[in-house]
Amino acid sequence: MRLYNTLSRQLEELPPPPGPIRMYFCGPTVYQRAHIGNARPFVLGMWLRSWLRARGYETTLVHNITDVNDKIYDAAPGASAELAARATGWYLQDTSDLGLGMPDEQPKATESIPSIVRFIGQLVDSGHAYAVEGDVYFRVASDPGYGRLSGQRPDHVEEQEPNPLKEDPRDFALWKANKPGEDTAWDSPWGRGRPGWHIECSAMAEDAFGPVFEIHGGGLDLVFPHHENELAQSLALGHQFARVWMHNGMVGGLGGEKMSKSLGNDVSLRNVLDTWGREVALMFFLGAHWRKPIEFGDETLVQARAQVDAFRNFFLDERPGDEEGEGVLEDELAAVLDDDFNTPEALALFHAWRDREEWVSLRWGLGLFGLGSLAEVEEAPAELAKLAEQRRDARDAKEFAESDRLRDEIAAAGWEVRDIAETPGYRLVRRRYS
Ligand SMILES: [Zn+2]
Repeated sequence: MRLYNTLSRQLEELPPPPGPIRMYFCGPTVYQRAHIGNARPFVLGMWLRSWLRARGYETTLVHNITDVNDKIYDAAPGASAELAARATGWYLQDTSDLGLGMPDEQPKATESIPSIVRFIGQLVDSGHAYAVEGDVYFRVASDPGYGRLSGQRPDHVEEQEPNPLKEDPRDFALWKANKPGEDTAWDSPWGRGRPGWHIECSAMAEDAFGPVFEIHGGGLDLVFPHHENELAQSLALGHQFARVWMHNGMVGGLGGEKMSKSLGNDVSLRNVLDTWGREVALMFFLGAHWRKPIEFGDETLVQARAQVDAFRNFFLDERPGDEEGEGVLEDELAAVLDDDFNTPEALALFHAWRDREEWVSLRWGLGLFGLGSLAEVEEAPAELAKLAEQRRDARDAKEFAESDRLRDEIAAAGWEVRDIAETPGYRLVRRRYS
C-alpha cells in the first residue's frame, strides 16, 4: 500500500500488515454547523481506516475537535464555551449520519490542556520557545529546517500572529494570555490563558500515539501554517511525529455566485444529508481522488445520484442462490486502492463489476465505503402487501377491472406486482430508481 506524502513529495510504501497504522486527522473548529468541505477529511479518514482494516492492518483513527479558538471567541463573545459545546453536538450528529461509523477517538482541545501545557513547558525549557507578557511563542529561528513541509523558505516565511513583542515575525503562539471577552482560560506557568491552535494538535496526537505515528491527515489548507508548525514543535523535542502527511484537496463551489439551487445558501453537511441523502454525499466524494480539488454543486450531485441509482437498480434484480462461501475480487480492488487510495478507479471498477454481474464483490466493495445499503433489497411496506393480496383475490375471482385498479395503485406507490406460482401468489418488486 502506498500513499502520497506531502513531506517527501513522493509516493511512500506503508509497512506491511498488520502495521500498526496510527492515523491522526485534523478535525473541525466548532463554531457553526460543519459544511460539506469539512466532511471530506472525515470521510477520507473513515474510508482509509475501513480499507486498511480489510487489508489486515491494525488501524486506529484519531480525529480531534478544536473547541477553543479565535473563531469561536469571535462567533460568540463571552459565550464561546456554550457555542463550542453545541456545535460539537451538531458535528458529531452530522458526521454520524454519514453512516460510516465514528473515529476511534475524538479528543477535544479543552480536555487536553495539561498535556498542552507540559508540551509548551518542554519547548521553553529547551530554548525553542519564550514567554512574553503572558504569551508564549515558538522560536522559529531555532529550527533550521522550518518550511520542510510547506516548502516555504525559512527566510521568506509569512508573518503569523503579528505582535511587536515577538523576537521574530515568523514566531507563532503556543500560549495566549487571556483577553477581555474570552470566557475560557486555564492556569499555566505563564499566567492564565489558552493554547494556540497548532500546539493543540501536537499534544493530542502524541497523547494518543506517542512521539511517532504513521499518518497525519487534513485539508490542503492546513499545510501552512498549521501542519508546518505542528511538525516544528514536535521535531524540536526530538520526536519524529508523523511519517506520512496526507492532504486532501479542497471542496470548491461553496460560496460566491454559483450557489446550489437545491441547497440555497446552506452548504452545511446537515442540509446536504437532508436534501440529497447520505449515499449521494458519499458518492460525490468517492468519484474524486482524495488529493484533487472537487467542485460541489447541483451538477455534481445529480451525477452522484445517477450513480447511486445505477447500483441500487442493479440490486433490485433477483440474484441466483445464496452467495455463502463465494469469494470476493479483493485483488482487483487492491490494485487501485493500494495505489494511493484511488477511489475514482475503485468506483470505475464497481461499475465494471456491475456490468459483469459480480454482485457479491460489488456488495462487499460498496460496503467498504458505507454504501452497502445500495445492495439491500427494500421490503415492500405492509399496506402494499395488503393491496397485492386483494389484487390476487380479485384476479382469482376474475374481477379483472378491480385487479387492474389495484395493480395501478401499487404502481403509483413505486412498486410492481408480479404473479408467481408459489405462495403467496404474487411478488412485489421495487420499480427502478431514476
Ligand atoms: Zn490540527
